Amino acid sequence: MSAETTQPRAASGHAAAQEQFLTILSREEAMARFEAALFPRALASEERVLGAALGLALATDVTAAVDVPPFDRSNVDGFAVRSADLASASEALAVRLSLNGETIACGTAPKLSVTQGTATPIATGGPLPRGADAVVMVEHSEPAGDGAIDVRRAATPGQFVSYAGSDIARGEALLRAGTVIGSREIGMLAASGIARVRVVVKPRVAVISTGDELVQPGEALRPAAIYDTNGAIVTAAIAENGGDASFLGAFADDEATLERVIRDAVDKFDMVVMSGGTSKGEGDVCHRIVARLGRPGIVAHGVALKPGKPLCLAVCDGKPVIILPGFPTSAMFTFHDMIVPVLRRLAGLPPRADAHVAAKVPVRIASEPGRAEFVMASLVEGDEGLIAYPSAKGSGAITSFAQADGFLRIDALADQMPAGSETQVTLFTPHVRAPDLVIVGSHCTGLDIVTGDLARDGLSVRAIAVGSLGGLAAARRGECDLAPIHLLDEASGTYNAPYLVDGLELVPGWRRMQGIVFRKSDARFEGLGAEEAVQAALTIPSCLMVNRNQGAGTRILIDRLLGGARPDGYWNQPRSHNAVAAAVAQHRADWGMTIAPVADANGLGFIPFAEEHYDFALVSARRARPAVEAFLAALQSKENRKALEQAGFRPA
Ligand code: AMP
Ligand code: MG
Repeated sequence: MSAETTQPRAASGHAAAQEQFLTILSREEAMARFEAALFPRALASEERVLGAALGLALATDVTAAVDVPPFDRSNVDGFAVRSADLASASEALAVRLSLNGETIACGTAPKLSVTQGTATPIATGGPLPRGADAVVMVEHSEPAGDGAIDVRRAATPGQFVSYAGSDIARGEALLRAGTVIGSREIGMLAASGIARVRVVVKPRVAVISTGDELVQPGEALRPAAIYDTNGAIVTAAIAENGGDASFLGAFADDEATLERVIRDAVDKFDMVVMSGGTSKGEGDVCHRIVARLGRPGIVAHGVALKPGKPLCLAVCDGKPVIILPGFPTSAMFTFHDMIVPVLRRLAGLPPRADAHVAAKVPVRIASEPGRAEFVMASLVEGDEGLIAYPSAKGSGAITSFAQADGFLRIDALADQMPAGSETQVTLFTPHVRAPDLVIVGSHCTGLDIVTGDLARDGLSVRAIAVGSLGGLAAARRGECDLAPIHLLDEASGTYNAPYLVDGLELVPGWRRMQGIVFRKSDARFEGLGAEEAVQAALTIPSCLMVNRNQGAGTRILIDRLLGGARPDGYWNQPRSHNAVAAAVAQHRADWGMTIAPVADANGLGFIPFAEEHYDFALVSARRARPAVEAFLAALQSKENRKALEQAGFRPA
């Protein structure tokens, strides 16, 4: 049963299939119950030598027991002096100091005082002798016969001296509980003479995937099977958040087997994270097994989240047991939003401050009230901070992870997030790096050819497909560097230029042939021109079209050809040229409009209709940016123009 459906299966008469989510908890209530069942608790800790503590969280604060450095220390090779002796020294007037009878090497304790008119040779790292308050560099002195030097510049008190405790002061809190031990922390501990620290033992977390359809990556796919995505992604995300993750495998929805696997996992591990089989459908047995495991058992099953409603949270004899929704995106949203905070507490780690950034949403995002809604977001740098572009909602597509930096949450009570709202974006991987070049607008495969050069030069490019009109709006708001557009101005019959406003300039891109695609075997379109083909299609009721989204340049052409007709399939409005070709190739539609290279790549028949101009609206204020210059150069390069031609485009 689909994880997002609460309707009982129509075809099944089985009682279990009629089960519903009777109590849907709010996200906050579910979290509160889960945390109340788990905390407070003592965390297991152990003492480790520094090297073996790498990557672990400190269980307690560590206080410095000594000063670092332990004495006033010279930072240079030179002479320990009394600064007052050199007050009158200048280029014109050297001051002569007689040398004391010792040299302070590193690790040598001084025996003699520096008295008025004297100096003691000292090496970098040597302790300052009694009486001295500054060091003069060797380079700033001249030998003056046996046992004396001349100095021709004054010395300020404290010059080239590191005072005792200036680095780390005795009694100072050196590191706080929850700090993850890295090489820097090991350095601080070693400098303070600390050899062993008490660290939190990483919680051992078992990861289990469930579903008859799952196959492990690397194995061959059976018909109707899919690769187990959650197993790998959840295991990695647990490790990223302080857990010691063990992936136990993917198991079929067989109650007896699963019960054995789950019981064993709860027995041997500190925490268990499963995915799939959490809807209240017949085949979904995990939650029934978990309900039998231990006290207090399931604390939330059915949370007002979109997506993520079937999330199941349980605590079995003190151990958290979680069933994530099956859809990988739902699994990730709920994991990062609700499981990571708990896992980090169990690992002795503070909340992850670097996993949230503030950003502004550029467009209104509609939302269904009553459920907290997660929306995938791509971040770009705006003039006044980060901007979070929502990606196509509810797609459940694993590839949207590649485009997205994280996700934002719209609260349950809100029916929208208005354009311009400030919001928090939860990052999948902290340390977001704003892309060097941002392209927002209409997508074209030719773009990949041009931007390839930039990637090879180490420049990161983010292309966000929102259609030509969306791109223009983004460019006007200064949210991107370039907006690729292909918009025909009906009145003048020209492309793109009439749509530019102040602050934008047109950079010519390439021409591409738009036309009708159909399956080569479909005789209904054979030998017809584009207008005729569409007219013919309109007379056959069973002939299904696939449209394009509002705002796409292609959509304007389609609407022109249809002249007000609304044939079957009109409301199927995918957002890309490729989706149109895929729909026709897979018999989900019989015709649509796409560009020639995409029709070719899918082995489809193609009737040319109009050559359109795919150009770039460049935000003038950004022209001088290195990444923009690199893009403009790549657009001009002979190699790229040739590659564009080979791919079926005609460079302008
Ligand atoms: P379920 O909650 O088991 O009904 O699963 C909901 C959807 O998520 C189904 O389309 C499953 O095929 C899919 N799914 C469940 N587990 C995984 C997984 N480990 N990797 C990828 N997809 C999954
Ligand atoms: Mg399943």
